[in-house]
Amino acid sequence: MKAAHVPGPGQDFQIVERGIPEPGFGEVRIRVQACGICHSDVLTKDGAWPGIQYPRVPGHEVAGVVDQLGAGVSAWKEGQRVGVGWHGGQDGTCPSCRRGDFRNCRNLKIPGISYDGGYQEYMVAPVEALVAIPDALSAVDAAPLLCAGLTTYNALRHSGALPGDLVAVQGVGGLGHLGIQFASKFGYKVAAIGRGPENAGLAKSLGANLYINSAATNAAQALQQLGGATAILATAPSSKSMSELIDGLAPNGKLIVAGVDFNPIEVTPVQLIMGTRTIEGWVAGTPADNEDTLNFADLSGVRPMIEKYPLERAAEAYARMLSGDARFRVVLTM
Ligand SMILES: [Zn+2]
Ligand SMILES: [Zn+2]
Repeated sequence: MKAAHVPGPGQDFQIVERGIPEPGFGEVRIRVQACGICHSDVLTKDGAWPGIQYPRVPGHEVAGVVDQLGAGVSAWKEGQRVGVGWHGGQDGTCPSCRRGDFRNCRNLKIPGISYDGGYQEYMVAPVEALVAIPDALSAVDAAPLLCAGLTTYNALRHSGALPGDLVAVQGVGGLGHLGIQFASKFGYKVAAIGRGPENAGLAKSLGANLYINSAATNAAQALQQLGGATAILATAPSSKSMSELIDGLAPNGKLIVAGVDFNPIEVTPVQLIMGTRTIEGWVAGTPADNEDTLNFADLSGVRPMIEKYPLERAAEAYARMLSGDARFRVVLTM
């Protein structure tokens, strides 16, 4: 089989021939049909996550079909359509797992980091990482939903906002274009926030009720003129633009941070105390949350906008993702 692996930290992708892997106890082998390229794959490509063993195959937005069951697996069937997202397995024994909080397992396994991920024709995953894919959802559509979709869907459904409430989605990109769709389908009044006028039409076609160009308008003031946002889902990786939005929150409002930046968010205690506002970080979710995401997308028609590349062109596809010009998620097909 073919795989696109990273030989060592910071090195270029190589397309290599490998033996088809065998599933061990409690694992299944998946024939991969599609794998999304996520910005977090940088962690594997550049060696930015501690302890990665190379060569390593990246990829945690995997959609395919169960090809073979390992010993001890009874709840899944050969031929069943399955996906694997960021949550690639938990230890079941750490303090978080003992409280049922698998998402925050202290020894969380991540496909493409802890073991070989989806940039290959076959991969092996533990059963607790598997996500059933609804029939109507194609593999290329399911793949980005397993990470970008899950993150936005799960963050919004736990935001505390009720139908009719003003919810802002900052960033019209890989995460944001899905966040806008989910927010609209949840029945919120959706304000999309982008830097520049160019995504206004697109944001509205995805379900935004209004578009705020934060390069030309003070977005926090614009939100306050509408009564303040119950929730702001920040998807663009810019701490500066997140900081600028905090004053746009309604009383008891919540800024949910999903875009990754290593710079500090600036906020004064007064901004949080007056109005009892909250800033919350959000990481993906469990495989069960992921099934909810896919089922809701199936039910409501939420779909990612994608650009497809064959596995052999993984290096080019990865560069396309890094450029920030892709509309919006890059997906490898096998
Ligand atoms: Zn991801
Ligand atoms: Zn654990």
